[in-house]
Amino acid sequence: MESGLRPMDAEQLRENGHKMVDFIADYYKSIENFPVLSQVEPGYLRELLPDSAPNQPESLQQVFDDLQAKILPGVTHWQSPNFFAYYPSNSSTAGFLGEMLSAGLNIVGFSWITSPAATELEMIVLDWLAKMLNLPDDFLSAGNGGGVIQGTASEAVLVVLLAARDRVLRTVGKTALEKLVVYGSDQTHSALQKACQIGGIHPENCRLLKADSSTGYALSPDLLSEAVSHDIANGLIPFFLCANVGTTSSTAVDPLLELGKVTKSNGIWFHVDAAYAGSACVCPEYRHYIDGVEEADSFNMNAHKWFLTNFDCSVLWVKDRNALVQALSTNPVFLKNKASDANMVVDYKDWQVPLGRRFRSLKLWMVLRLYGVENLQRYIRNHIELAKQFEELVAQDPRFEIVAPRKFALVCFRLLPPHRNEDFSNKLNHDLLDTVNSTGKVYISHTALSGKYTLRLAVGAPLTEERHVNAAWKVIQEKACVLLSEFGMNGVS
Ligand code: PLP
Repeated sequence: MESGLRPMDAEQLRENGHKMVDFIADYYKSIENFPVLSQVEPGYLRELLPDSAPNQPESLQQVFDDLQAKILPGVTHWQSPNFFAYYPSNSSTAGFLGEMLSAGLNIVGFSWITSPAATELEMIVLDWLAKMLNLPDDFLSAGNGGGVIQGTASEAVLVVLLAARDRVLRTVGKTALEKLVVYGSDQTHSALQKACQIGGIHPENCRLLKADSSTGYALSPDLLSEAVSHDIANGLIPFFLCANVGTTSSTAVDPLLELGKVTKSNGIWFHVDAAYAGSACVCPEYRHYIDGVEEADSFNMNAHKWFLTNFDCSVLWVKDRNALVQALSTNPVFLKNKASDANMVVDYKDWQVPLGRRFRSLKLWMVLRLYGVENLQRYIRNHIELAKQFEELVAQDPRFEIVAPRKFALVCFRLLPPHRNEDFSNKLNHDLLDTVNSTGKVYISHTALSGKYTLRLAVGAPLTEERHVNAAWKVIQEKACVLLSEFGMNGVS
């Protein structure tokens, strides 16, 4: 290579790495100036970039110029303090530094031997986090359980579903696959459905039981019990429940203890999806939301959502790691080594779908060390307090209603239809969402609860302060006024 960057040269890395850090730091300094939701049209980038890769190297400056002019306009700014959509996906200085280190070392830690520190640090850090959450000792690595970092909650539910499937098939015989039944509420994330599709579970055996406002959108243990008995009576085999602590639509929390009684007496694998709300349970006052987790076989939370750990870092704990290993291990000759053969080590390749894996525990380790438990608790509490304030603002405006009870830092609300005309309501709120987001000043998202088109405002971006929440409410109110008056209704707040 005659000119341009050499593949890896320490001095070139130092020089260009500093420039990149400066670029990113400047981005964070000016992040509020960008429209939160990208305003480009589909296909915009093809018009701006050449049809093929350059034959000769270009300079980093040319790339920076394109980043500014062509890429950033097509970015939705998840780290903006005005980002309130979906659930947050936190970045932090510690998380970023850990990610940098992981990219710098660039190891592929599928087996212990391929980088002992990667496996051992992951085990230790996940034991730390399990203790912060006060998970039962069964989930710690000292016994038969332990934690593993998956990419996403979808991968977490997939691997435990596969472990549960293979466990039950070993007892009832492989040909019984078509009889296996999975349970969850209709509020369960579609990741469960995808896991069933991949795991060969027949679509008609995936029971998404109704959860409505009468239970606060939580799964009723009685409903589960009835469904299980009905399926057994029909010769089917119940084998997996995915319960929620913090559903995607409304942060509903399923009653783990009671659900656990049903799963235990029927030999059903009990998985808890706490992808979003798990983080809050490091605060003693929110820990009660996972009471009953001692009944579960597996528990998952996304540290990359609301725990200052850059994407991706989805943490899964299991009580019986052998169930995962039995379902997912392969032992090709080219990976054989003394430590694995002697069964002295954990080989995380057997706890996940891919073989290769990044050194992701570094960033979680850095988050825990550079912030400490108390600061992380403060971080969560502050967001919950801001969400509470937003909820009060909504409640004070008679044109709006809170659609589902707030538990964490998500507020579900909607503009009430004038004269209680429900048919008109969904269109009104849909239009409100569109107009609010098209301002670029704020980004919120939506869901449907009992057929009601519902707006979701999730506080959780690391830079969000009270002023951003107040400004978001102002934009929502302003746009509501305009919409209501367009429809000939009183838009005065
Ligand atoms: N479970 C819950 C409760 C979620 O809110 C989400 C996403 O927001 C998921 C699962 C899926 O997350 P992932 O993107 O990590 O697969």
